[in-house]
This record gives sequence, structure tokens and C-alpha cells, in this order.
Amino acid sequence: MSGFAPPAGPSIFTRIAKGEIPSEIHYQDDQCLVISDIQPQAPVHLLVIPKLEITRLVDANSEHQVLLGHLLLVAGEMARKFDIDESFRLVINNGEGAGQTVFHLHLHLMGDKDFEESDL
Ligand code: AMP
Repeated sequence: MSGFAPPAGPSIFTRIAKGEIPSEIHYQDDQCLVISDIQPQAPVHLLVIPKLEITRLVDANSEHQVLLGHLLLVAGEMARKFDIDESFRLVINNGEGAGQTVFHLHLHLMGDKDFEESDL
């Protein structure tokens, strides 16, 4: 058992999905949405976010298998749409120690940048 307790209340991403907080939304369907990161680390920096609030990747289970696959497919679709499909990086930060600041699972899709080993 992990001692981790997520912050109470809906996440900032849920509030964006509900239209309570403005954001640049590039895509959405019944399972996920794709927004621009507010503090981009690359010329293209999108967040692929499931509408279901899964706190961290490690909190996902086999019930989320189809959803997790869908997020990857949408990431690929967005990479094509933003013309970064030849070279992009997909990152999931899991836990504070890894730099996770929003405790609602999301994929960072970053591209149009020369990634160096030192970025890891
Ligand atoms: P992480 O650090 O992996 O949890 O990533 C959270 C990301 O969410 C960061 O890159 C933030 O810049 C981004 N972020 C936080 N608030 C917003 C917001 N209101 N709109 C768009 N991106 C946000």
C-alpha cells in the first residue's frame, strides 16, 4: 500500500475539461482531451489527459487498459497533426520525486526540439 494521498477535489485538468478553467483545447472525445501546456518545455508541448481522474500511472489497473491504449493512439494522432511525427518525446511523470505536479494522469507530448541525452 502506498501512503500517497492525492489532493482533495477535482483536479485542474478536470476543471479544464468541464470548461471551468480556460485552456487551449486541441482535441477531445468521450475519453480524453488534449491541451497546450501552459509552461511549454518545447515548441510543441501538449498534454494528453484522460477525462477519468487516474491520479498517477501507478494507480491505473487492468480496467484502464483500453483507455491507456487510447491515450497513446491519440498522442500519435496529435504528433501527426502537429507535424512532429518523425521525432517527439512522450513523458509521464509519476510521483512528486519524478516532477509530477498535477495529480491527474497525463502524457506530455513534446516535439519540434532537438532532444539531448541531458534532458532525461
Ligand atoms: P507534471 O509536472 O508532469 O504533473 O505536469 C503538469 C503540467 O501541467 C506542467 O507541465 C504544467 O505546466 C501544466 N499545467 C498546469 N496547469 C495548467 C493549465 N491550467 N493549463 C495547461 N497546462 C497546465
